[in-house]
Amino acid sequence: AKESGRGRICTFTADMNRNVVERMRLLSRVRLAFDRQAFTLHYQPQVATADGRVRGFEALVRWTDAELGPVSPDRFIPVCEDSGLIIPLGLWVLETACIEAVGLACRGAGEVTMSVNMSAVQLAQHDFVPRVLEVLARTGLPPHRLELEITESQMIGSLDAAIGKLNALRQAGIQIALDDFGTGYSSLTYLRTLPINTLKLDKAFIDDVHRRADARGLVSSISRIAHDLNRSVVAEGVEEAGQWEVLSLMGCDLIQGYFVSRPLPADRIDAFLASWEDRRPR
Ligand code: C2E
Ligand code: CA
Ligand code: CA
Ligand code: CA
Repeated sequence: AKESGRGRICTFTADMNRNVVERMRLLSRVRLAFDRQAFTLHYQPQVATADGRVRGFEALVRWTDAELGPVSPDRFIPVCEDSGLIIPLGLWVLETACIEAVGLACRGAGEVTMSVNMSAVQLAQHDFVPRVLEVLARTGLPPHRLELEITESQMIGSLDAAIGKLNALRQAGIQIALDDFGTGYSSLTYLRTLPINTLKLDKAFIDDVHRRADARGLVSSISRIAHDLNRSVVAEGVEEAGQWEVLSLMGCDLIQGYFVSRPLPADRIDAFLASWEDRRPR
């Protein structure tokens, strides 16, 4: 028993070392990528179930490394958070997305919203609010067209401080969305106490919604609660037409997912908008 116990510890530390080495390699590549401005943004449309119109886009960061190939943000964002690189990277994402939103309006896309993911590390910065306001001033994006996406896991520890900052952003006219709703622990409390406009229902809730009555029940209950609290509801990860119909009936206000479009590079947005106009469900 002693032997196998020791063996397990050895494997565990070996795994840990591999992990540390892997993360250090990733970090050095990420740093290089940031210095060389190798990150890009893709934009995924969000459309209204009521009339199929595009109401906005979510900005999602992309990176293809020469050595590692395409790396998912799920992998490199945590490394950026641990190293602090998320602060300049997050600022770049915010500014680039705001510039894109201003450009979209100029090209006739109308009053679309730009949604930008915020890391807990960014939100925790003491000057988070003035930084965001500075970017709006610099880019000329009207505050009501910016939506910041936060997750409930970011609230752990400093709930009061976070609420204070979110309130300040709301007062400036910026919209706040609670991302990945339903994947954490105290979702309903957060839904009520956080000053948010929008709730984004995680894909996990959406996957079975056209096949299972219990999944539908959950979505319609959450939608009803959200609407009672004056929040709008976005369904994430919608991949099929059948889901759209059900989600529309269940009270979801907006749809985001491959069914409408994959996240697109900036230069493909105009073509998407033109083609969507012809095929949107009405
Ligand atoms: P998220 O914010 O929940 O973003 C939604 C993810 O689902 C995106 O993955 C998107 O490409 C993917 N997705 C959208 N529709 C569908 C669908 O119909 N089916 C499936 N299977 N997937 C769909 P992505 O782009 O790989 O991003 C992963 C996560 O990385 C994001 O999850 C977000 O937490 C984080 N992230 C991405 N960009 C940024 C950023 O600029 N800043 C920060 N802090 N985090 C980011
Ligand atoms: Ca998001
Ligand atoms: Ca999400
Ligand atoms: Ca997610």
